[in-house]
Amino acid sequence: MSLISQRPFRAPHHTISEVALVGGGATPQPGEISLAHNGVLFADELPEFNKTTLEVLRQPLEDRKITISRAKYTIEYPCSFMFVASMNPCPCGYYGDPTHHCVCMPGQIQRYMNKISGPLLDRIDIQVEITPVPFKDISQAAQGEPSAVIRERVIKARQMQEQRFKDVKGVYSNAQMSERMIHQFAEPDAEGIELLRSAMERLSLSARAYNRILKVARTIADLEESDVVKQQHLAEAISYRNLDRGDWAERGV
Ligand SMILES: [Zn+2]
Repeated sequence: MSLISQRPFRAPHHTISEVALVGGGATPQPGEISLAHNGVLFADELPEFNKTTLEVLRQPLEDRKITISRAKYTIEYPCSFMFVASMNPCPCGYYGDPTHHCVCMPGQIQRYMNKISGPLLDRIDIQVEITPVPFKDISQAAQGEPSAVIRERVIKARQMQEQRFKDVKGVYSNAQMSERMIHQFAEPDAEGIELLRSAMERLSLSARAYNRILKVARTIADLEESDVVKQQHLAEAISYRNLDRGDWAERGV
């Protein structure tokens, strides 16, 4: 009998300590990242978290496990979680808002953004900016695709991935692919490679961002039930790296 039948969802408050987040303490205890194992760790208002506390997330996000070494013990906890975070565009919250005026001082927005380090941002695969929708548009909105239909598509894509990695121990999804597996399973077609090359140069993306774009593109292709990672899948994956593209605090206030 398994003790946990539902994937966990953990949403620690931004005042959380480093130990409570990653684990440790006088008597070793798992932290929120391990309590979120195989589930979601949600950080609301990311820049409000202590910067050094956030930095300790970097290694576990790569390794999917954490080793805690103290004088009296060394212990390893699993922590394969999906990291989800939200933030305002600026301290006042109205930067880029079509209906309100942002009152932040020049430099204030950049300082706010700088609370999240480049290396941590690099590890966030999908970074999207959401602008508020005016009420009249919400009330007039045509019926979108129902969540139940999207759910079916996601389940199907997950099944494709399970099938893809059936011979690889401990790997169930595209996100868990090693670099070698990316070459094997997510190698784009010639047009895709060309698009990636120019995006790398134009946006000065890191090698880590490059691999992460390929993984996201593989998933977009899976959602369309495409065996091949095509140019359009890559274009979509690249478009989800809003913050990398530096078009945030540079559009002029
Ligand atoms: Zn503002």
